[in-house]
Amino acid sequence: MQSCPFVFWVRSDDTMRLAMSEDKAVLPPVDPVRAGLTGRCPRCGEGRLFSGFLTIGKHCANCGLDYEFADAGDGPAVFVILIIGFIVVGLALWMEVTTQAPLWLHFVLWIPLTVVLSLGALRLIKGLLITLQYCNKAAEGRLDVRK
Ligand SMILES: [Zn+2]
Repeated sequence: MQSCPFVFWVRSDDTMRLAMSEDKAVLPPVDPVRAGLTGRCPRCGEGRLFSGFLTIGKHCANCGLDYEFADAGDGPAVFVILIIGFIVVGLALWMEVTTQAPLWLHFVLWIPLTVVLSLGALRLIKGLLITLQYCNKAAEGRLDVRK
């Protein structure tokens, strides 16, 4: 058994198999961070994850993985708010303290920068969280109802 920082894999000859009970696909290992940041399928690393800019596709065109499990929820927005907010507010404060720029210049600079950075980061973080969700088998909590 070999482990990576994000997922556990089971070695089977020269190929690796994801240790998920319901997923029996035999595929080479995919780096979830790379696949997520590039918007690729979390199982094969080849097919597109997004059908639009932020819309998740129905399934992988390469391996057929159904993306119905993919639900990043509010996670990407939280990370974007924290990360981009820290960067933009830090830059705005630094500029205000060092140059005492007029208010209109702050609006002209920081609002478009915030929009552009947020949209770019939102796609990256959404892809990353969904691939990590797949690799770690993260899902909503369910009650174990035994009959
Ligand atoms: Zn795939």
